[in-house]
Amino acid sequence: MWSKHSPGRNLVGGSALFPLALSERLGKKILYDTQATRIQSADGSVEVDVVAGTTRSTFMARHCIVAAPAFVAAQIVKDLPSDTLHALKSIRYGAFLTAAVLTAETAPMPWERHYAISTPGRAFSTIFNQATTLREDPTNRQPGGSLMLFRGAKGAAQLMQLSDREIVERFRADLIAEFPEAASCISEIVVQRWEAGAPYSWPGRGTLQAALARPLGSIHLAGDYLEFPNMEVAARTGREAADAVRSN
Ligand SMILES: Cc1cc2nc3c(=O)[nH]c(=O)nc-3n(C[C@H](O)[C@H](O)[C@H](O)COP(=O)(O)OP(=O)(O)OC[C@H]3O[C@@H](n4cnc5c(N)ncnc54)[C@H](O)[C@@H]3O)c2cc1C
Repeated sequence: MWSKHSPGRNLVGGSALFPLALSERLGKKILYDTQATRIQSADGSVEVDVVAGTTRSTFMARHCIVAAPAFVAAQIVKDLPSDTLHALKSIRYGAFLTAAVLTAETAPMPWERHYAISTPGRAFSTIFNQATTLREDPTNRQPGGSLMLFRGAKGAAQLMQLSDREIVERFRADLIAEFPEAASCISEIVVQRWEAGAPYSWPGRGTLQAALARPLGSIHLAGDYLEFPNMEVAARTGREAADAVRSN
């Protein structure tokens, strides 16, 4: 997880363990595959319309923490102050394009001790080797591994015009160009597209902050777009929203 102290900390086993642990504690209180379509304050409470498949329901709540991306919050939260609505609509998102590479090496590779390798001029801009965190004992190297190839922003948006197969071939060719040793050990490459990969800042973005941070009564915004996009901010703004609910 990135944090202010980037590159932050790693969760051995994958960052998905974090929400899985939360969901175990919350149990049946979580509704999966359920989309909020309207959130509206009404007489000291909040009405939340949701749809799950073809089933529509409305929930009444004393408070609602809205942790959806900014452009979704702008769409589903009704009767927002005009400056907050404008600020939510103004948050800019850039594309992310990633590929997971499964490798089958039986010996240490040149990327072995590197967590992130910058690759200017390649189809991807960075190679991530998250497995570095698992390989603290070089005398006990297990076979196989995985890499993550990353491209962001305009470069990602351009590549995303291509099919998955074409992206895989470009990434494969450039990975082998960067590390010829990869040719013998790539088992599989899976592409993942993130059209709204991350909110990003620009000159003037700061002028939106007051409208995003203002109290909204029984509705509370949370999410990485409120600050710098990483999991620490996502968790902290969620925590701050929960604290605001408790203090009411
Ligand atoms: C490829 C990639 C790699 C990353 N790597 C890292 C990393 O290594 N370290 C790090 O710290 N951060 C990383 N990030 C950033 C991190 O994932 C985000 O900053 C973080 O997930 C943001 O959390 P969030 O809760 O604000 O938003 P999201 O994680 O986007 O959560 C928003 C949720 O709202 C849901 N939603 C949307 N619309 C509705 C609706 N109408 N009704 C109900 N639910 C809705 C979505 O399904 C989603 O689950 C990465 C991001 C990407 C894309």
